[in-house]
Amino acid sequence: MATSDPLSVAAEAARRFLAGVADRPVGSAATPAELTAALGGPLPEDGVDAARVVADLARAADPGIVASAGPRYFGFVVGGSLPAAVGADWLTTAWDQNAGIYVLSPAAAVVEDVAAGWLLDLFGLPASASVGFVTGCQMANATCLAAARTAVLRRASWDVEQLGLFGAPEIEVIVGGDAHVTIFTSLRLLGLGAARVRTVAADEQGRMRPEALRDALAGGTGPAIVCAQLGNVNTGACDPLEEIAPLARARGAWLHVDGAFGLWAATSPRHRHHTAGAARADSWATDAHKWLNVPYDSGVAIVADSAAHRAAFTATAAYLVKGGDGRRDAEDWTPEFSRRARGFPVYAALRALGRRGVAALVDRCCDLARLMATRLRAVPGAEILNDVVLNQVLVRFRPSGGGDPGAFTQAVITRVQQDGTCWLGGTTWRGSPAMRISVSNWSTTAADVERSAAAIAQAARG
Ligand SMILES: *Cc1c(COP(=O)(O)O)cnc(C)c1O
Repeated sequence: MATSDPLSVAAEAARRFLAGVADRPVGSAATPAELTAALGGPLPEDGVDAARVVADLARAADPGIVASAGPRYFGFVVGGSLPAAVGADWLTTAWDQNAGIYVLSPAAAVVEDVAAGWLLDLFGLPASASVGFVTGCQMANATCLAAARTAVLRRASWDVEQLGLFGAPEIEVIVGGDAHVTIFTSLRLLGLGAARVRTVAADEQGRMRPEALRDALAGGTGPAIVCAQLGNVNTGACDPLEEIAPLARARGAWLHVDGAFGLWAATSPRHRHHTAGAARADSWATDAHKWLNVPYDSGVAIVADSAAHRAAFTATAAYLVKGGDGRRDAEDWTPEFSRRARGFPVYAALRALGRRGVAALVDRCCDLARLMATRLRAVPGAEILNDVVLNQVLVRFRPSGGGDPGAFTQAVITRVQQDGTCWLGGTTWRGSPAMRISVSNWSTTAADVERSAAAIAQAARG
């Protein structure tokens, strides 16, 4: 094998992968045993040449790599990575900055400040809000809800940072009937409990019903947090924040918005009406690694009350050099202490797209989701279950000869996954199994959707 330096080997393998990502089978059929055989074995007693380690890894891992970065991956809500973001991410790795405090990386701190300002501008959120760059929307929800917990208990004269929750006034937590699972893991982490929440009924698209929220809030007086959502993971539907925000405000409740992908609709003049009222919330959690198409791990926690946000996370110790003349110390805004400089790829993606490019990315994905729904509606037995308002499509298939649509839909999903033209998964929507399609990748084209719709139609016939 030709010897080379590990970075050249990595760059070459990465280029080859990305050049072929649109053409390889989208799913991975590798079994754990096959991958373990290729990658496992005892820990070597002596080290292996670095370039060879990288070359071996690229080859051995390949059968287990899912082409989720490619244009016909419609599973979950994933997104790929814009070339500018990949490039910036490579530099982030090479620079190996600890972005926890300013003195450890002034460049990382300033780039995060700049990217934070751009994001607030794009989303139409208050310029005074504070922003934490976290690993994903799970941590963004937890970060925002920690700030919420601090703020609502402070108003009740309780210092949760020092006293914890033992003996604290109870916090009433209200969530929509279709809240994302990570809201509940966040509540667990924060000692607020996943099961003691009040659940507000959602409508047939998964949107919180404002009149049900009004009933839930009636008569309450103590600390309260309302968790709303932009972008239901199944339907893409957005809670009516314009109606929800005044109700939360009148009750004195903190309004948190989980906008993992739905908040990005606010960047598009054509789609931002779905997010109307968002600016009146108190905190917003979103992802950059989904719809902005930057590499994992990249979520964003935004809090209007920056004092509460900082109080929830700031740490001081004699050896920490912090603060002064507008310096950003990232650890004030995130649960992490030492951390990756994940602002660089976010900055690069935003700069490469510009305001128009971000809106165009959102619009294109939504248009392609509508195209997919149009094509699938024409497939005999297919039924689109949701209003395709953003990038999500839910489909159910009825077998032509009669029989259980649930089992048949599951069979169609399995056939599509095995075929490898595209990849998508299943879900249960309002009690029945459905195929779930998410269009979130920057590189997906109408031709990709046509090809994928044809593969799905074939699977539904076969
Ligand atoms: C994906 C998602 C999350 C969790 O985000 P991660 O980045 O996976 O941690 C939370 N809420 C919604 C609505 C999501 O779609």
